[in-house]
Amino acid sequence: MDKLAIVVPCYNEEEVLKIASSTLRNVLDDLVRKGKISGDSFVLFVNDGSTDRTWELIEEEHAAYPAQVCGVKLAGNVGHQFALTAGLLTAKDMCDVTISIDADLQDDVAVIEEMIDKFHDGKDIVYGVRKERKTDTFFKRTTAQLFYKFMHMMGVKIVYNHADFRLMSRRAVEEFSKYKETNLFLRGMMPLIGYPTDCVYYDRKERVAGESKYPLKKMVMLAFNGISSFSVKPIGLITAAGFMIVFLSFVAALYALISYFTGHVVKGWTSLILSIWFLGGMQLIAIGLVGQYIGKIYIEVKGRPRYNIEKILPCGDHSVEGGDGGRSGHSAGSD
Ligand code: UDP
Ligand code: MG
Repeated sequence: MDKLAIVVPCYNEEEVLKIASSTLRNVLDDLVRKGKISGDSFVLFVNDGSTDRTWELIEEEHAAYPAQVCGVKLAGNVGHQFALTAGLLTAKDMCDVTISIDADLQDDVAVIEEMIDKFHDGKDIVYGVRKERKTDTFFKRTTAQLFYKFMHMMGVKIVYNHADFRLMSRRAVEEFSKYKETNLFLRGMMPLIGYPTDCVYYDRKERVAGESKYPLKKMVMLAFNGISSFSVKPIGLITAAGFMIVFLSFVAALYALISYFTGHVVKGWTSLILSIWFLGGMQLIAIGLVGQYIGKIYIEVKGRPRYNIEKILPCGDHSVEGGDGGRSGHSAGSD
């Protein structure tokens, strides 16, 4: 039977913590009763440097339910993406499968069972995808949609309308742990892992209590981080703009020379306008070219894994396993 860890990042969530804990414990109990996960499955709360009573509440919950509730206390506020990573990497050695979910329970816990079913069907990553954004404000909805469109234009593969409500098998988290980059954008990184994936769909609800910990500033930063961590396309755009302007400079040259020969120009204008267009274009090309090298250095410096072997069919008596030792206890009813 597979052991499940539900990872919950929490920043100033004192209003929702107890509700989240009891809801998630009920989910665990239900799944254990149905024989879908093992009885020692647990919820892991990650306290992301909260300034309110969040950590005390986690300690209380742990004292009351030591087998089901664990906690990780980060030394300061590092943000949702890092807090979630800390939780996943802590949980990975203690379980067979993880599910990450926000503390405010906006994501529907009812689909967790479906996620587990898909995991038993052999999926390593199951994305929770929002059907509609009825409860979000018009502003949040439109900005989010623009964001996804823009990301696709920039060549970043992300799952549409998926935030960080996601199931990951142990070997997927293991592979993820090889991505050492500090500019984290988890939604963009998961598709790079490349194991079998699937989606479950749900309606996103209102926050149970408290207010959003993701103000506009943090959202914009996340969006910018998402693009700059995954795409060197903006550099290519500069080079392209350079070529465009050099091309335009020839058109401008034609115009300037005609004006010159027809005699309707101020002295010195022709040479000035020609130099401005031509040099401007050449400079952009040069910057773009330097940028291409910097883009390459950037990609190298990240040191991401170049590939991830999923399976090897061994020849003769060579016993080899793909990935990092295969999926321990993965299939349903394997033990
Ligand atoms: N969160 C966190 N660190 C932060 C900000 C948020 O761990 O610096 C957590 C927060 O407690 C919640 C999740 O990230 O569990 C999502 O935040 P929130 O619900 O406020 O974002 P929204 O749903 O409004 O986008
Ligand atoms: Mg929320």
